[in-house]
Amino acid sequence: MALYRTRAIVLRTRNFGEADRIAVLFSEELGKFEAVVKGARRQRSRFVGNTLAFNYIQAMLLTGKSLDTLSQAELVHSFAKLHEDLTKFAYASFWVELVDGFVPERQAAKDIFRFLLAAFIILEKTSDPVVLNMAFQIRLLSYLGYQPQIDQCISCHQVLTEPCFFSAQAGGAVCSACSGKFRDLIKVGLADLQIMEHLGAVDLRELGTFAVLPESFKVVQGILRNFIEVRLERPLKSQMFLDSLSL
Ligand SMILES: [Zn+2]
Repeated sequence: MALYRTRAIVLRTRNFGEADRIAVLFSEELGKFEAVVKGARRQRSRFVGNTLAFNYIQAMLLTGKSLDTLSQAELVHSFAKLHEDLTKFAYASFWVELVDGFVPERQAAKDIFRFLLAAFIILEKTSDPVVLNMAFQIRLLSYLGYQPQIDQCISCHQVLTEPCFFSAQAGGAVCSACSGKFRDLIKVGLADLQIMEHLGAVDLRELGTFAVLPESFKVVQGILRNFIEVRLERPLKSQMFLDSLSL
């Protein structure tokens, strides 16, 4: 058995056996992997408290045959505050489910790691998590190489005019002349696509004053939801939680 250190975000934890827990960690250098937290359900130590979901920790691990064991966890940054606000908690859980779902195990994804960490820090402070959440999804998709094509028709590449549509399967906007070729079209306005374009380009820290009308919010959220579920090939568990909060 070898001992090693890494800094990681705790994506989530789940019960394991009678007394233990598994922590799903996302490390900048090592990518996503699981580690056992021995005795986590029986002891209330600071070490176990530090493995709270979203926390950024300095971890010491022991390699094991199938699973490594977390032997120390020091806080680099506590995101306990994200557990105190229901909306922010729902978004952080959703983001973690996206990252967990899309990032393969044991493959470094440095850009996505840094992006998630920065997004948590902004989420902790923001007074407008709704717009931040939309921007997060669009930016994450582009880091994953799944950026939707919204600046022209995905089929004929013509400039878009209204009425226009969006196909989650095809992964982009569709003009009315091409609309007969697709079966999963959502009607969208050019303004909705412009919002997506803006949110995909702007620095998350600069979002502060960007307003999105409720109608556009609904359309863009719908587009992103379909688009993500098609790419992930399954529905998202945390989406039900967001729905219950009308987010
Ligand atoms: Zn077209």
